[in-house]
Parts: sequence; C-alpha cells; structure tokens
Amino acid sequence: MGTITVGWLLILFIIVGIVTYVADKKGKVAPLWFIYALFLTPIAFIHVLLTSPNVRELEQRAIESGKSKKCPKCAEVVRKEANVCRFCGHDFTRNPNMPPS
Ligand SMILES: [Zn+2]
Repeated sequence: MGTITVGWLLILFIIVGIVTYVADKKGKVAPLWFIYALFLTPIAFIHVLLTSPNVRELEQRAIESGKSKKCPKCAEVVRKEANVCRFCGHDFTRNPNMPPS
C-alpha cells in the first residue's frame, strides 16, 4: 500500500504543479489554482487546459517586465522593440515623451 500511495502522491503533485504553472502562464491567479488543483486535481487539470488566457493580465505583465509597451495613440500593447504600432501605425520614434524602458 505504501509505495502505491507515494506514487499517487507524486503524480498528484506533478499534476498540481502543471496546473499552477499553466494557470500562471495564462495570466490567472496561480495560488488560487494551486488550491483548486489540490482538491479537484482532474477537474482543475482539464479546466486549466481549456480556459482562455487572461489577455489583460498577460499584457500588464509584459509591460511591467519591459517586454511590451502600450501605444499612446490606440492603447494597444505592442513589443518594446517596435518602432511602429502594428494596430494603428503610430510612429514611436517620433514620440520623445515615451518613457525609456
Ligand atoms: Zn497604436
């Protein structure tokens, strides 16, 4: 019985880990998903794979980490290296007010 229990616990922890990781990557609140996965492991696992990413949260994180910036003209998030907004064509090189990142 002992080995089986340990084996199952290991699998459980791996799945919980995957759920938490995927949830975080999708911009979800990882600690909540961790608890969710602990109690309802199979449901949480399927749920996290099917759930759509929290785009706003991911954009916010990208801005905070310096990978992206927000276009001052159309407020869409574009790559930090972009010189021209891919949404509205705003020219970043002509804007001296953009904060350095
Ligand atoms: Zn724009």
